Amino acid sequence: MTAEREKTLLESVPAALYIGGEWVAAEGGRTLTVSDPSTGAVIRTIADASPADGMRALDAAAEAQAGWAATPPRVRSDILRRAFDLLQERKEDAALLMTLEMGKPIAESRGEVGYGGEFLRWFSEEAVRISGRYGLNPEGTGRMVVTQRPVGPSFFITPWNFPLAMATRKIAPALAAGCTVVIKPAELTPLTTLFFVKILEEAGLPAGVVNVITTSTSGAVSAPIIADPRLRKLSFTGSTPVGRKLIAQAAEGVLRVSMELGGNAPFVVFDDADLDKAVEGAIQAKFRNIGQACTAANRFIVHESVADEFGRRVTERVTAMHVGRGTEDSVQIGPLIDEKAVAKAAELVQDAVERGATLRTGGSAIDGDGTFFAPTVISDVQAGSDILREEIFGPVLAIATFADEDEAVRLANDTEYGLVSYVFTQDLARGHRMIDRLDTGMMGLNVGVVSNAAAPFGGVKQSGIGREGGLEGIHEYLSTKYTLIPVD
Ligand code: NAP
Repeated sequence: MTAEREKTLLESVPAALYIGGEWVAAEGGRTLTVSDPSTGAVIRTIADASPADGMRALDAAAEAQAGWAATPPRVRSDILRRAFDLLQERKEDAALLMTLEMGKPIAESRGEVGYGGEFLRWFSEEAVRISGRYGLNPEGTGRMVVTQRPVGPSFFITPWNFPLAMATRKIAPALAAGCTVVIKPAELTPLTTLFFVKILEEAGLPAGVVNVITTSTSGAVSAPIIADPRLRKLSFTGSTPVGRKLIAQAAEGVLRVSMELGGNAPFVVFDDADLDKAVEGAIQAKFRNIGQACTAANRFIVHESVADEFGRRVTERVTAMHVGRGTEDSVQIGPLIDEKAVAKAAELVQDAVERGATLRTGGSAIDGDGTFFAPTVISDVQAGSDILREEIFGPVLAIATFADEDEAVRLANDTEYGLVSYVFTQDLARGHRMIDRLDTGMMGLNVGVVSNAAAPFGGVKQSGIGREGGLEGIHEYLSTKYTLIPVD
């Protein structure tokens, strides 16, 4: 029954590109395959777009732009709201699909449908609240009118780790603002985007407003779109090295860019922390999405007086975690996305242990089908270990220690990244000091998950440019126009 349900669901996902309101084959009928990382089995064969297909998608977006920008905000809002409702109705299918193509535990996929869906509801509400201002200039000679206009056709490149939320977090504000879209999901997880765009179609989105290109040649397909003068905005979520390349490409056309890039989040536990809360927060911040989140806590920086106790308690929790195929309700840790990710986690652990860290549990790949890595805790991680510098992107909790607040701040900020930080302390004044002192775009104070559609998500330093969600999110898709009208 379960296998039958998986098969029916997978077959219901369109295998084509979505361009100009039509589901179409790729040039030359080219295809790519999508696999389940928990078994390695191919689960669907879909269209593999060429650069010419990419340009057709941009043609459609460019052609639809004026009509969509002129569509009343209430109409745009209603479409987003209908899409939100349809997604809730199909929550179980959306969740299962994500688990099948990406591997995350089904409960977390359900959570992502909730989180990802909220961007549709939030921006359906924001679509009708776009406003400007009006005022007299200081000289009293002119009326200054400030209005907001849609930026124009936008290109989105999304990663594999949150296949739904990374798409809705971009598409919803763009549509609310009046921008048309071409979206290219990751080759490893394209099915959720296709499923979601079918929902947008059913919700009444006019042809050409959102176009989807799935491809195995992301660089070759993306470059001509980014170089085309009709494109006005590039929004990317993914790794910092790819983000850098895309910023360089976007510079040629002086495009507006939003970049949601890598993280290396510090998780700081002070000696006055509530350890129950810190352990709970640590498990969430580290093991959600099998550790494959840009917001994943990467470096546990724990006061030397509580480090042993903290290490003992998290190890107890981690040792008891149930690893397996995410479709089973009891599973907490699914597979990593691919073999490369497994090899990287193993290398980082090995390097840390060779430099003096203690392996408390886990530490290696799990034999058998799929790309599983045992949930791991290492403590006494020494300065200079690769694991403190690189994004782990796996279920490995690495603990280093500090002696005083200044050292904690220095260690936490000692990275080129600045997406999110987590701080556990019961001292309110210290909490406020940490808000000021930690160089990150977001912070969780005594909590291990911060994401919310109503909050501005984004980083500083090499974690990115711009914010998604919140009141700020729609402004990534609006440009400000000032008009002066002389007073007669
Ligand atoms: P990635 O390798 O940078 O890929 C992200 C996307 O970029 C994929 O769609 C990929 O397509 C595409 N891509 C790769 N090279 C490209 C190129 N030369 N031109 C155009 N597109 C290109 O990152 P990932 O491994 O999928 O995702 C993990 C990274 O994303 C981590 O660093 C994580 O921290 C970051 N992330 C950040 C946030 C945030 O909000 N800050 C959220 C989630 C993830 P193909 O895979 O099909 O080649």
